[in-house]
Amino acid sequence: MEKITSFTIDHIRLIPGVYVSRKDQVDGSCITTFDLRMTSPNDEPVMNTAEVHAIEHLGATFLRNHPVFGSRIIYFGPMGCRTGFYLLLAGDYESSDIVNLMIEMYEFIRDYEGEIPGSSPRDCGNYLDMNLPMAKWLARKYLDEVLYDITEERLVYPQ
Ligand SMILES: [Zn+2]
Repeated sequence: MEKITSFTIDHIRLIPGVYVSRKDQVDGSCITTFDLRMTSPNDEPVMNTAEVHAIEHLGATFLRNHPVFGSRIIYFGPMGCRTGFYLLLAGDYESSDIVNLMIEMYEFIRDYEGEIPGSSPRDCGNYLDMNLPMAKWLARKYLDEVLYDITEERLVYPQ
């Protein structure tokens, strides 16, 4: 079988950032997949599942309620390697197009207080596996080190 595109990225040189992972044409419409890379692959500790899970619930809730992008959200969820998330948007976008959206989303997570949406046995398959303080810490780190004053090298995959 052929190696899929996301396995051809040089993960050794990849740094935390906001990247376009791929664009797919589906029945004449473009779907853009973003790589929201939060930790440096094979270089720093990966995120634990409980904070990844909390970011997933909060991020998905924020995105699907967003007044501008809400109707364009196809999917938001974690990478299996736990170094980041994928966001799928209906439309043809560049990474710089969603930086402000990601700042809004990660500020929402950083500042979130209270019960995480969907964290109940009826709504989620593993509702106790949530770590809000670490999710907030990771959101702050991504904002401070990546999203605020983002540089070109964090918007385009290494060649
Ligand atoms: Zn869940």
